[in-house]
Amino acid sequence: MTQVNKGPVLQITRQGETDPVAHSGDAKHHKPAMCSRCGLCYTHHRDKLADACVFVENRYEMLDKKLHGRGRQAYTDEDMFGIYRHMYVAKMAKPVEGAQWSGIVTSLGTMLLEKKLVDGVICVQSAPGTRFKPKPTLATSVAELRKAAGNKPCLSHNLSALQEAEKLGIKRLAYIGNGCQIHALRAIQDQLSFEKIYFIGLPCTDIVSYQNYMKFLGLVSTSAETVVHLEFMPDYRVWMRHEDGHTEKVSYFGLPMDKLTNDIFPDSCMSCFDYTNSLSDITIGYLGAPMPYQWILARTGTGEELFEMLRPHLEFSPIVEKGKRDKVVLQSIKMLDRPPRTVPLPAWRIKLITFIVSNFGLKGIEFARGTLTMKWARNLHFIRKNYPEREDELVPGFARRVLGRYGL
Ligand SMILES: Cc1cc2nc3c(=O)[nH]c(=O)nc-3n(C[C@H](O)[C@H](O)[C@H](O)COP(=O)(O)OP(=O)(O)OC[C@H]3O[C@@H](n4cnc5c(N)ncnc54)[C@H](O)[C@@H]3O)c2cc1C
Repeated sequence: MTQVNKGPVLQITRQGETDPVAHSGDAKHHKPAMCSRCGLCYTHHRDKLADACVFVENRYEMLDKKLHGRGRQAYTDEDMFGIYRHMYVAKMAKPVEGAQWSGIVTSLGTMLLEKKLVDGVICVQSAPGTRFKPKPTLATSVAELRKAAGNKPCLSHNLSALQEAEKLGIKRLAYIGNGCQIHALRAIQDQLSFEKIYFIGLPCTDIVSYQNYMKFLGLVSTSAETVVHLEFMPDYRVWMRHEDGHTEKVSYFGLPMDKLTNDIFPDSCMSCFDYTNSLSDITIGYLGAPMPYQWILARTGTGEELFEMLRPHLEFSPIVEKGKRDKVVLQSIKMLDRPPRTVPLPAWRIKLITFIVSNFGLKGIEFARGTLTMKWARNLHFIRKNYPEREDELVPGFARRVLGRYGL
C-alpha cells in the first residue's frame, strides 16, 4: 500500500478545540484529537497511522474487497453487520470462569495456543490493583490468556502490544480486539513481519476512558467499588455483579444521561460505523442473541476454521428475529436534537417502559439491526454537527445506505 502523507490529520479537532495534543492528553505520542487510543502510535509503526486509522479515513470498501474478493451486498444485512459466511447463536457448554459471557473468546485463544497454531495472543488483562483498567498484553501461555478473561470496558491501546510480539520474533499471532484496532491492523498487515494473524473481533460501542468508566459506575451503582462484572444487556438493563455474588440491575431508561453525555464518550466512538467489527475473521459478541447466548459471525475462511474448532464445545440456540425496528429508529432520530432529560422519570414509569420493551420490543437479529442503526444515526448527527468537513472520510457507503432509509 502506498504511504500517503496526511500531515494535517494532527490538526483535526472538534470545533472550538485548537490544541489537539492537549485534547488527546498525550503530548508524548502526539495523537490526533479524534482518537480511540488503539495503540498503533505507541509503536514504531506510528508513521503508518495515516494509512491505518479509521478516523483519518475509513477503508472498509477496499479492505472488504481484499478480504472477501467483493464488496458488501447493498441493502442486505451485510450493510450493517459486514460480510459473513455464517451466523450462529451459541455458548460454551462449560463456561470459562471469570469470562464476560460464556468465555468463547478465551476458549478460542486457548485452543490456538494449545494447538500451537499461534505463538502469542494479544489480549487485555487488568492493570495491577484494578479490576477494570485495561493492560494490553501479549499472552504466550494459556495461563496468561486466562487472566485476560472478562471485559475491561474502557479504551485500551491493544495495538501497542504488537511491538513486543515483533521483538520476540513471533510469526503467528492471534489478535483479540475492537473494530478500530482491527481496521488499523488489517490496513497495515502486509507491511508487518507476521506470517499469520487470526483476527478475533469483539463488537463494541461507546467505550470510555478508565476515569470516565469509574465515574459512570459511581453514578449508576449503589456500591461502585464492589462491582466485579458489568454488561449492557439486551433486556435494556445494565447488569452489575458484585463481590458478594448479587446482581444489581439498572434500566437504561433510569440512567442519568444528563450527567453522562457531557463528552463522556470519545469523539472516535461517536464517529464509528463498525459496531460489529466487520473486518475480523470471526466476531464474538451478544448483540443479536437471546440471553445468555452469544452471537457469532464467521466471516472469512479463517473465521470458519476457528468456528469449527469451537463447534464441539458449544451449545447452540436458534437464531431469533422479532419485531420491526423502523418505528423505534425514527423515534430515536426525532430525539437526537433534544437535550437529555434532567428530571429522572418516576420509578414506576421506568419499570413499565422496561417491562414493555424487554417483553414486546425488538428481539435477536432485529434488536441488533435496531440498536446498530440508532447508534449510527446518532453518530452521523454528531459528525454533521461537529466535523461536517470530514463526513466523506468518516461515513462509509454502507452506513449511508442504512441511514438513507430514514431520510438521513
Ligand atoms: C469494551 C467492550 C465493549 C463491548 N460492547 C459490546 C456490545 O456493545 N455488543 C456486543 O454484542 N458485544 C460487546 N462486547 C463484547 C462482549 O461484551 C464480550 O466481550 C464478548 O461477547 C466475548 O465474551 P466471552 O465471554 O467470549 O469473552 P471472554 O472469554 O471473557 O474474553 C473477553 C476478551 O475481551 C478482551 N478485552 C477485555 N477488555 C477489552 C478492551 N477494553 N478492549 C479490547 N479487548 C478487551 C480480553 O482480551 C478477553 O480476551 C464488548 C466488549 C468490550 C471489551
